[in-house]
Amino acid sequence: MTTKSAAAAARATVYGYPRQGPNRELKRAIEAYWKGRVPADALRSAAADLRVRSWRQLADAGITEVPTGDFSYYDHVLDTTVMVGAIPARHRAAVSVDPLDGYFAMARGTQDVAPLEMTKWFDTNYHYLVPELGPDTVFTADSTKQVAELKEALALGLSARPVLVGPVTYLLLAKPAPAVPADFEPLTLLDRLLPVYAEVLADLRAAGAEWVQLDEPALVQDRTPADLNAAAHAYRDLGARTDRPKLLVASYFDRLGEALPVLAKAPVDGLALDFTDAAAANLDDLAAVGGLSGKRLIAGVVNGRNIWINDLAKSLATLGTLLGLADRVDVAASCSLLHVPLDTSAERDIDPQILRWLAFARQKTAETVTLARGLAHGTDAIAGELAANRADLASRSNSPLTHDPAVRIRTAAVTDTDTRRSQPYAERATAQRSHLGLPLLPTTTIGSFPQTGELRTARADLRAGRIDTAGYEERIRAEIDEVVSFQEETGIDVLVHGEPERNDMVQYFAEQLTGYLATQHGWVQSYGTRYVRPPILAGDISRPEPMTVRWTAYAQSLTSRPVKGMLTGPVTMLAWSFVRDDQPLGDTARQVALALRDEVNDLEAGGTSVIQVDEPALRETLPLRAADRPAYLSWATEAFRLSTSGVRPGTQIHTHMCYAEFGDIVQAIDDLDADVISLEAARSHMQVARELASHGYAREAGPGVYDIHSPRVPSAREAADLLRAGLKAIPAERLWVNPDCGLKTRGWPETRASLENLVTAARAVREELTTS
Ligand code: GLN
Ligand code: ZN
Repeated sequence: MTTKSAAAAARATVYGYPRQGPNRELKRAIEAYWKGRVPADALRSAAADLRVRSWRQLADAGITEVPTGDFSYYDHVLDTTVMVGAIPARHRAAVSVDPLDGYFAMARGTQDVAPLEMTKWFDTNYHYLVPELGPDTVFTADSTKQVAELKEALALGLSARPVLVGPVTYLLLAKPAPAVPADFEPLTLLDRLLPVYAEVLADLRAAGAEWVQLDEPALVQDRTPADLNAAAHAYRDLGARTDRPKLLVASYFDRLGEALPVLAKAPVDGLALDFTDAAAANLDDLAAVGGLSGKRLIAGVVNGRNIWINDLAKSLATLGTLLGLADRVDVAASCSLLHVPLDTSAERDIDPQILRWLAFARQKTAETVTLARGLAHGTDAIAGELAANRADLASRSNSPLTHDPAVRIRTAAVTDTDTRRSQPYAERATAQRSHLGLPLLPTTTIGSFPQTGELRTARADLRAGRIDTAGYEERIRAEIDEVVSFQEETGIDVLVHGEPERNDMVQYFAEQLTGYLATQHGWVQSYGTRYVRPPILAGDISRPEPMTVRWTAYAQSLTSRPVKGMLTGPVTMLAWSFVRDDQPLGDTARQVALALRDEVNDLEAGGTSVIQVDEPALRETLPLRAADRPAYLSWATEAFRLSTSGVRPGTQIHTHMCYAEFGDIVQAIDDLDADVISLEAARSHMQVARELASHGYAREAGPGVYDIHSPRVPSAREAADLLRAGLKAIPAERLWVNPDCGLKTRGWPETRASLENLVTAARAVREELTTS
């Protein structure tokens, strides 16, 4: 390989682009179709227009090979399920009657048929629909969508590269279908799946694809030797086919590790690697295999998951090193641009001095093009861009927003003592018992009460200026009145104010903290037609004034029972925001933690004796590779403790998490040193209570007895049965009674009935305990 020719050929590419359109046109068209307001053809043509628009935008920016097939009406993993014909039996009839409606039925379910399960796409906030496979699964190729979209792009005169979820990742993301034994391993179906992929690849080649990209992000996770063998086998098999296009195997989100030598040896034509956070590891591993002789290397140097401008000089240096390691080096964003908003130029409210630090999909595309040009023609060819980039980076690193001396001094002064409660749990528990005087099996809720239409109207009225702040707060207080009196009448022991003032558990705090930015149009797809607008942790974080104290204090003024203060924890604040890339995550977490610590302390000073700090994202932010987990858990648990350790022993700290698998983080849960944890448990029948117990968890816990994801009202008997099951794992002195999660998505009627039953159940089981 010669460095010079590798450089001269350098091109820019991306693996996927935001699907929604500049004004979320796709969401609107799909939802209108669901409501029956527009026919299928109108939806199809709206979607086709959006695709054309994206391709043209990419091509105009200088992307020479546009991605196709990354578009989706709902989710690209579900599209792959359709492509390989793995439609679950319960959906087959609907799909054969009307493929589009059947598709949406798989995604969303119908009155009678359950949808596919949804889960997070690696460590992003995008959710995919989990394929359901079993020993009887028969795969059949359906290349319709892929071929049609390729042809659309080719018809525009563009050169295009179809993007598919790779066969190994597809199987590794699948789970056993409902009737199939839980130990069934979908990867055993590989030999059945490969001919189907081969057929699709052949169809794409026949339709004019020179290259096809197969995404294998599952290979950046810790893989067993059997998984790696499967990957080797898959690409040996697909690579050996004669009627195939050139194959590019793409990895992203982390280093390829043990999978790198496997893919480097495979008879495929190109590899795409992530050179953002994983740059050093991937570079070492590439050098260790002696480079990719005879292959095209796509270098993902522009971070596809954050919203910051690239350091062009640094990327060029990385690219320069790579030139010696492959026959051809192309430049790309590290992963699909699906995970970032579309275009910073739509932001009108962000200070232009700050906006220049931000890059969304459109700006990231431009960066890859610039880098490819710099690589091909030398830095002189991009001298203007490099100078502007240097100035933008300097403006960011010299800004008072990113370097607030007061915050810096305070974070640097944090000591280990600041992250520890003054007494060990056992002593605190005694102090809290006498201070709070709660009954056995105390009842509580997780924080939010139904977000009613009136509340949403009040917020809209405030935004539109139809009411003023005083009028808005009046409505919030009225809601708190209602929530408190309902809880008193129902006999709940530890009350909440109901969170009526919060639009979202992260955004509400982000809006009140200095250093956070909000966007107007920074929508990213969470799942299907649900888009979120994550706030941006842009600068050093501080809290100008208390954020929640007056609402909690107001609620407390209405009742003699304890009212629980309610905050979102530092890890979850990070997980559901765009984070800084100019300092370690742990440093950002520490700043947020200190701001929350002030809030916790102010709540206590205002008379609050029970304070809950929610960390639903603690588990989901766990790094993809086990080797990186201890470091993460160490800063994450420390940040939580820093937030919560400033209080007196008699003040009870609660935390809350809501995902089903806690088994691998029980130690971390313990390290939070919270006094009480509430967890989702109703669906798994108290499984987490047993997991906690088997790890010797010694604190108080409230495994949920009311599944809040369903409008169904659990009977008092059912809740009591769950409590009895809970008591087998957790002794009565340490067991709490609560729902799985907050009630904001529920209606009042079912909330009322369910909580009444929950209190009845607690009383009945208390009775049994005291009489037996
Ligand atoms: N306190 C929050 C609520 O009740 C917790 C939400 C969550 O765990 N996702 O809404
Ligand atoms: Zn929850």
